[in-house]
Amino acid sequence: MTRPIHATVHTQALHHNLQRCREAAQDSRVWAVVKANAYGHGIERAFDGLRAADGFALLEIAEAERIRALGWRGPILLLEGVFEPRELEACSRLGLWLAVHSDAQIDWLATHKTHTGLRVFLKVNSGMNRLGFAPARVGAAYARLAALPQVDEVSFMTHFSDADGPKGVAEQVARFAHATQDLPGERSLANSAALLRLAGDAAVRGDWVRAGISLYGSSPDFPEHSAADWDLQPTMTLASRLIGVQEIAAGESVGYGSRFVAERPMRVGVVACGYADGYPRHALTDTPVLVQGVRSRTLGRVSMDMLSVDLTPVPQAGVGSEVVLWGRAANGAVLSIDEVAHHAGTLGYELMCAVAPRVPMRVA
Ligand SMILES: *Cc1c(COP(=O)(O)O)cnc(C)c1O
Repeated sequence: MTRPIHATVHTQALHHNLQRCREAAQDSRVWAVVKANAYGHGIERAFDGLRAADGFALLEIAEAERIRALGWRGPILLLEGVFEPRELEACSRLGLWLAVHSDAQIDWLATHKTHTGLRVFLKVNSGMNRLGFAPARVGAAYARLAALPQVDEVSFMTHFSDADGPKGVAEQVARFAHATQDLPGERSLANSAALLRLAGDAAVRGDWVRAGISLYGSSPDFPEHSAADWDLQPTMTLASRLIGVQEIAAGESVGYGSRFVAERPMRVGVVACGYADGYPRHALTDTPVLVQGVRSRTLGRVSMDMLSVDLTPVPQAGVGSEVVLWGRAANGAVLSIDEVAHHAGTLGYELMCAVAPRVPMRVA
């Protein structure tokens, strides 16, 4: 038997989640955000499930090239624009749309040699204070872009800092609206959290929404809402098997640092999955797992190649039994990546992006 850990990307679930985003977006068009190699799923593996999107949004030319190689002829948006002027050549060749967030990027465009104009999304800094033009500078940036023969059409985008929390987006929406008032062009504001929570408001929906994490079956505002609350399905399963079982007595400990001590005699399963596979080392005892589709918990510290689980709720489990670290078990039971992330003090985003290259990933 080869090492039993593997990951599975679920095409149907991607499609389902995209439809959920579409419903929330109403008449607005939906970018499928596939940066970071489709949030760790692999662009090629995720493409079939997401091909009903109106466009793909990402960061790198190489990723855009891969989407074109899959036969996609629709819009592709570079969310941060180009990182150096010579990338503009590839933008023209591949027909990419690009964010423009700085004066330097406008300078580069002004010296770019092209016959066909590029579509740009002028990025407004409405309060996140990461990328974009301050509201007072938007008019001047727009005028410069609109006057360039290299630019075909100017649209506007901004990004929310607090769409998932109590602060909300009202202030940023107002600043964005004010900065772009009277300027013609399409608008894009919402990420997943804004889309699912606030897209009843047409000013939040805009013309294009940018859905990322929700496509991948993770709730953008866990634990306030779970993925199930939003009717999102897991798109990635990380599964392995038991490769050992220990029967331990009360008072015995499990793993490095003896961080778990048994209070009573118990069976402990050893799973072929560790932090070198991308499982979070910060997940301590009590992180949920599914053993043969039954919910149980981890015990003690995660090591590089193994972790231990409590077999008390699954007495029939033994060497070879299925263990799902997140995703869907063979019996249909679901363990959301968000729950595992929460136990490790992180987000579903980070876990799905961090599955290690040594874990074979297939599509189902
Ligand atoms: C990553 C990203 C998104 C998607 O955000 P999610 O929270 O994953 O939906 C949207 N817009 C921009 C600019 C991004 O960088």
